Amino acid sequence: MSLGALYVHVPFCVKKCAYCDFASSKTRADDPLMDAYLDERLGELDRCADAGLLDHCKTVYLGGGTPTHLGARRIGALAARIQLLCPQLIEFSCEANPDSLTDDVLAVLVDAGVTRLSIGVQSLDDGELRALGRIHTAGQAKERVAVAVKTGLDVSVDLMCAIPHQTDVSWRRTLEEAIDLGVDHLSVYPLTIEEGTPLEYQYRNEPTPWNDEDVQAKHMEAAERILAIAGYSRYEVASYARPGKRCAHNIAYWTGVPYLGLGPGAASMLDAAGYDHARKVYRWLPPRKPDSVRMRFSTLERDVEFLSSRETWAEDLMLGMRMTDGIEATRLDIAPQTRDELLTRGLIERHGNRLVPTHDGWLLGNELFGTLWDLAVPSP
Ligand code: SF4
Repeated sequence: MSLGALYVHVPFCVKKCAYCDFASSKTRADDPLMDAYLDERLGELDRCADAGLLDHCKTVYLGGGTPTHLGARRIGALAARIQLLCPQLIEFSCEANPDSLTDDVLAVLVDAGVTRLSIGVQSLDDGELRALGRIHTAGQAKERVAVAVKTGLDVSVDLMCAIPHQTDVSWRRTLEEAIDLGVDHLSVYPLTIEEGTPLEYQYRNEPTPWNDEDVQAKHMEAAERILAIAGYSRYEVASYARPGKRCAHNIAYWTGVPYLGLGPGAASMLDAAGYDHARKVYRWLPPRKPDSVRMRFSTLERDVEFLSSRETWAEDLMLGMRMTDGIEATRLDIAPQTRDELLTRGLIERHGNRLVPTHDGWLLGNELFGTLWDLAVPSP
């Protein structure tokens, strides 16, 4: 059994943010739906544990939605059950939003053995937060992050660039204030204006110069510079950490570790052994195809994708290039033309026995990742 990571999705939010197209819905704190959801997940966790799926799970991520919107009683019960059923945990992360990360919630998370909080701050400018439709203020975010840091948990904050009203100065200020709060880790990414969201509707007929590609690149570069000076190293396209504070769960995703996702917005990716065990829990899963080595499925849509060894290899190459560590150079030995083309175009470079993405490789990420994924289909 080689399931290494567990993700549990909590699809509730206090209010939908203007840019959000994630699987989550506005839910009142006293809505009985949340209790029903909790019961369902607890039952599912028990069944997964009975099937042996959680025995070797090393990392857990409670994501959303807004897990902390469950409130202290419910999130405490969920976290405690996970802790009980995953005896080999080395990292237990929980996503939080400043407005629902109350002292009570923090206390039960600490009690239940959560080790890491990922707080959705996005910006430390009130005008920018309002434009994003976030319900917290900059002051509230700073206060909650500071309290979380004091608990001794590893604290990460999410920050967003290329957003309405943002300037070079306000972006720099957000980064510097986040650093001053003493966080261990930051995830920094440009806003994507998703179709069908209120933000897209609002700007449908207006130019969005604050979001254009040059601004995105400029702000991502500024983040890398400012965070490097403060002692955070970039280890993935959007992730920065102090020494020893990289997120093991996300690294599991990027390095092909099998994972199980619980809840409607979650996907799973399992190897053959894990999939065979998962079929005892999810009886709708069809038998494995004979040549498949990796299976991806979503319980909501009930669809399964069977990946061959070649597709698995291409996917690993692509995911590996999201990380500064890249991939072992020998992994591209069987595709020398593609390797040489990427080297010539300056999208990757050699570092000892590894091939790693260059600055341009990440800037032109779609080209780099697309070229590697194309290897999934053997050339005629
Ligand atoms: S808190 Fe997160 S998941 Fe919830 S609406 Fe906002 S962006 Fe979406």
